[in-house]
Amino acid sequence: MLNSKGITMYDLIIIGGGPAGLTAALYAGRSRLKTLLLEKMSLGGQIILSPAIENFPGFAGGIETGRLILAMQKQIEELGIEVKTEEATKITYDSGFKVDTRESREQAKTIIVSSGAFPKKLNIPGEDKLIAKGVSYCGTCDGPLFKGKEIAVVGGGDKAVEEAIYLTRFASKVTLIHRRESLRASKILQERLFENKKIEILWSAIPQEISGGNFVEGLKIKNLKDNRLKEMACSAVFIFIGIHPHTEFLKGLVKLDGQGFILTNENMETSLDGLFAAGDCRKKTLAQVITACGDGATAAFCANRYLEMKGL
Ligand code: NAP
Repeated sequence: MLNSKGITMYDLIIIGGGPAGLTAALYAGRSRLKTLLLEKMSLGGQIILSPAIENFPGFAGGIETGRLILAMQKQIEELGIEVKTEEATKITYDSGFKVDTRESREQAKTIIVSSGAFPKKLNIPGEDKLIAKGVSYCGTCDGPLFKGKEIAVVGGGDKAVEEAIYLTRFASKVTLIHRRESLRASKILQERLFENKKIEILWSAIPQEISGGNFVEGLKIKNLKDNRLKEMACSAVFIFIGIHPHTEFLKGLVKLDGQGFILTNENMETSLDGLFAAGDCRKKTLAQVITACGDGATAAFCANRYLEMKGL
């Protein structure tokens, strides 16, 4: 539908093409909403950085992430959802929504923000300087570079444990460094971690500095029990210590929590009428692919209901 100035007026613009955005697009397409999906990179979001997903219902033994995302993509293509590879940089609201990207300005009656999150940094000396020279936030991308090498993994959640196990395919030894004495990761992953002979765990420890000239050569670690520092030789440091939301472009428009996650109710409604949020960018208890998909479905359902109720 074109507005009076000949500009396409979408029923819905979805910002972000990870599992939440792809599911929202699926539900929006089935409700026959005129929908545009904006994704700044390739479809899939940050989960595409994980080789496989083991806890998506219906796939005993797990499913390769790429396969799952391609299947989701095919579903939205079949519904004729328009996808643009552009980054939303600003949203304004004035009787309707305007979404600016670097290339264009789009207009819609409702918005679903499913812009996801990106990995947190340790923010220690050497980290920035040695990114892509042994410092990594993606095992699938960089693991094969460290065949036969000793590497460190930082973190104690699902991601760090999954990746530590995955990285033993390549590395001769993986040292998992965690700041407490118990892991946050699910028990089934912990069992596999403890069984893996290639993995050593350093408990109650945090990295202080990553050293190296052109490539990572070692890591300075502090033992949190006695404050002693120790040097550890390694060729890579993989960091998985949680996520930051991609919500900079929403500041001042909707309510965010102290870390920038979007605040919503159970209908995925934000503080701004007509703008919904789904997936890792919103404040929630469990950030998983399956919950992102659930958020996306709910957000699209409620966006459609909003359009009907407002007679838009
Ligand atoms: P997470 O569950 O938030 O765990 C972060 C870990 O890093 C925690 O163990 C935390 O320690 C530690 N940590 C945080 N800040 C640190 C710092 N400055 N220095 C040292 N350690 C620090 O995050 P994640 O494991 O990276 O996973 C990111 C998100 O992806 C999570 O929401 C997770 O649920 C999700 N995920 C989903 C799937 C899936 O859908 N299949 C798979 C993997 C991950 P404490 O325990 O002491 O706080």
